[in-house]
Amino acid sequence: MLEVLPKIAKMQASYALGKPLAPPMNLTISVSYRCNSRCKTCNVWQRPNDDFTLEEYEKTFASVGRAAYWFTFSGGEPTLRKDLPEMIGLAYKYCRPGVINIPTNGIQDKIIPGRIEKVLQAAPTSDVIVNLSLDGVGEKHDQVRGVKGNFERAMRTYAGLKELKGRYKNFTLGVHTVISNFNIDEFDNIHSFVRNELQPDNFISEIAEERVELDTVGMGITPPVSKYQPVIEGLQRDIRTAEYDGTIERITQSFRDRYYDIVKRTLTEKRQIIPCLAGIASAQIAPNGDVWTCCIRAESVGNLREHNYDFSSVWNTPKAHDMRRSIKAGECYCPLANASYTNMLCHTPTLASVGVKVAGGIVGSALSGKKGKSSKLRDLPVMNAAHEAHDEEQVTVEA
Ligand code: SF4
Repeated sequence: MLEVLPKIAKMQASYALGKPLAPPMNLTISVSYRCNSRCKTCNVWQRPNDDFTLEEYEKTFASVGRAAYWFTFSGGEPTLRKDLPEMIGLAYKYCRPGVINIPTNGIQDKIIPGRIEKVLQAAPTSDVIVNLSLDGVGEKHDQVRGVKGNFERAMRTYAGLKELKGRYKNFTLGVHTVISNFNIDEFDNIHSFVRNELQPDNFISEIAEERVELDTVGMGITPPVSKYQPVIEGLQRDIRTAEYDGTIERITQSFRDRYYDIVKRTLTEKRQIIPCLAGIASAQIAPNGDVWTCCIRAESVGNLREHNYDFSSVWNTPKAHDMRRSIKAGECYCPLANASYTNMLCHTPTLASVGVKVAGGIVGSALSGKKGKSSKLRDLPVMNAAHEAHDEEQVTVEA
């Protein structure tokens, strides 16, 4: 974790200067648009395919080098690619990621656990996090995901993945729920099922955003804040009263709690609540090699095939600089989780606040002799890009 601090400093300096001093610390690789789900919240499976080959990934990862720390291999459904372990092995060889994140729909229950085991072997010192998508319980999940029998298959996949836990110390198994207008009324049920039955290492939820990448702009999938707020505050109450085994878990949960506050405020205030460092600290590579600052806007700043697979070359095009200017000027806002977690890491007031709260929790549990509960997380210092330039206002978020 400490090895991230110099990278954060570099990202902050890049943001201040308005030009990148290094490749992003958070890289999402969309390995294919192919998908065997038919979710109500996603049309990505309809996009044409022109996927990078392993050789193309090797050249790209060699050019990125050790700058990137946090990799997400997404899709489409990433486990549909038979060469996913080899691809991640190449990322490991050249970039040595600290964290590798892989979402899965769990449909290929006979294949996914074995494929993930090969990933774990290919990246032995990276923390590999696999998040199973769960958007309902039983038939409700199948309805939202558009595949009959998906829930049963996903549960078999989950059981297969859980068996890997005892054998691979670098493996974290999570569950991920997209909260949309199609399942927000079911969220408490999903949350109870995950907490009581599945008991994953992580449970994360993300609000359904309309993304250019997923061809969902204008579909009205995002729930209104009036419905989202009470639902997510139930989850936040759980986070704040849960008992934690270690410091890393406390830190993770503190960031998660703050992320949910940011989502609520983004929906209400319709602006960047803390500065977005997409285009500096985070980026996405589309299956055909287009490089985006983020998947919400999904505007290509250049294609790796046209730049001899040199990431820095694409990262420094005039279009990339223009996107950075636009983002810094606050011309877009969203609650995208992937970018938001990086933004929080690079936002000194948020980082300091998490540090203080986590330290308070540790001291509190040491004094009480119990495993630590999260101390009550308040006084979230959030500010938008425009404010940050000229004041140090701290905004208190309501409980
Ligand atoms: S605020 Fe959202 S849409 Fe704008 S650049 Fe950041 S992640 Fe993308």
